[in-house]
Amino acid sequence: MQYKRSSTLFKSAQAVIPGGVNSPVRAFKAVGGTPVFVERAKGAYLYDVDGNKLIDYISSWGPMILGHAYDPVINAVKSRADLGTSFGMPTALETQIAELAIDMVPNIDKIRFVNSGTEACMSAVRLARGVTKREKIIKFTGCYHGHSDAFLIQAGSGAVTFGSPSSPGVTKGTAKDTLLAPYNNLEAVAKLFNEYPEEIAAIIIEPVAGNMGCISPAYGFLEGLRSLCDQNNTLFIFDEVMTGFRLAKGGAQELLGIKADIVTFGKVLGGGLPVGAFAAKNEIMSHLAPEGPVYQAGTLSGNPLAMAAGFAMLTALKEDATIFDRLATKTKYLHEGLTSVLEKENIPHKINRVGSMISLHFTDKEVFDFETAVKGNNQHFNNYFHGMLKEGIYLPPSAFESYFLNDALSIEDLDFTIEALKKIVHKI
Ligand SMILES: *Cc1c(COP(=O)(O)O)cnc(C)c1O
Repeated sequence: MQYKRSSTLFKSAQAVIPGGVNSPVRAFKAVGGTPVFVERAKGAYLYDVDGNKLIDYISSWGPMILGHAYDPVINAVKSRADLGTSFGMPTALETQIAELAIDMVPNIDKIRFVNSGTEACMSAVRLARGVTKREKIIKFTGCYHGHSDAFLIQAGSGAVTFGSPSSPGVTKGTAKDTLLAPYNNLEAVAKLFNEYPEEIAAIIIEPVAGNMGCISPAYGFLEGLRSLCDQNNTLFIFDEVMTGFRLAKGGAQELLGIKADIVTFGKVLGGGLPVGAFAAKNEIMSHLAPEGPVYQAGTLSGNPLAMAAGFAMLTALKEDATIFDRLATKTKYLHEGLTSVLEKENIPHKINRVGSMISLHFTDKEVFDFETAVKGNNQHFNNYFHGMLKEGIYLPPSAFESYFLNDALSIEDLDFTIEALKKIVHKI
């Protein structure tokens, strides 16, 4: 396959957009080479500007759970657009999608719509701080909650338990309020509670991590965090921007049977349009403006096109109870296929999988947190990524991203993918 036009377009883009992209992972920096410029997509396939057809395993990083250009979503957006695209006034559609989401997700009474997952997580933390009147939060190294300042924090040095900025532009003052713990390490979290009693407003977590590959919570981990939160009057925030409406109709809360105090959403919820949301029980949500004093707003929040797309998407997911099982079955099929090829060649690897999220790590050790995820062999990953791309398979261009399968993928597509690995496995 050739990527001539992509290459030319990337050069033009680099002249006017930093790095040529509007979100860093798209630039292929981790794997090298030229990002693929897409022209259109339908179902499981991407069609790029060079006329290549690719089988897509990122699904726009999650939202396209039913495949690209899913007709009910496209039709909803088209017919809504004729009525006007934004008003800055309430519409009935916002109440309809709110009712639907609350019906699908356990343990929430009210939901506020925003424009991205970043906004949702940022607002959820402000709400938690407003409710508890505390300032510190705990996040887990390797979990991603968007790019707002409080989350761009890495482990501090030496004996300090608070973090340091992971990006220039984030202040030390902000970093002081974000405490870090390794994923799946309950003891580290208990220690933080001992060290900062009555100071921790919230724990925020990806209940199944999807931003350091796919990492599932160890048995008892989330339960343990839930009881630490209860003992310390700390709020438990599930960042379900990725897992919401993907792992089950009611997200990870439903799949894992654990209650969160505040839940954030994005990705699937918007059906491919820019939507995020955060939700909780009445007693928490009542603190939010205009009902309460915690401020949060948005000119385009609840945008009618986005709400129409989201409503069509959630309706489809609610009406077909078999979708999530079917997706999990396809993902298991892929898992088994990839494993058998890699085992035959004796390539050290670990595959992690939960529902329709799966990641392949080139290591012979278990991958259960950020530290174990970064131990994977990058050269193997890059060879694998580019080898598969040449065969027409579009995988996440980073070893620290999960694949997100969509329901349009057929068994033939999965077989084609496994066959592609057979062709390139000796080059890994
Ligand atoms: C994608 C993602 C976000 C950020 O959402 P954006 O819409 O990119 O701002 C936050 N949390 C998780 C778990 C995500 O996967």
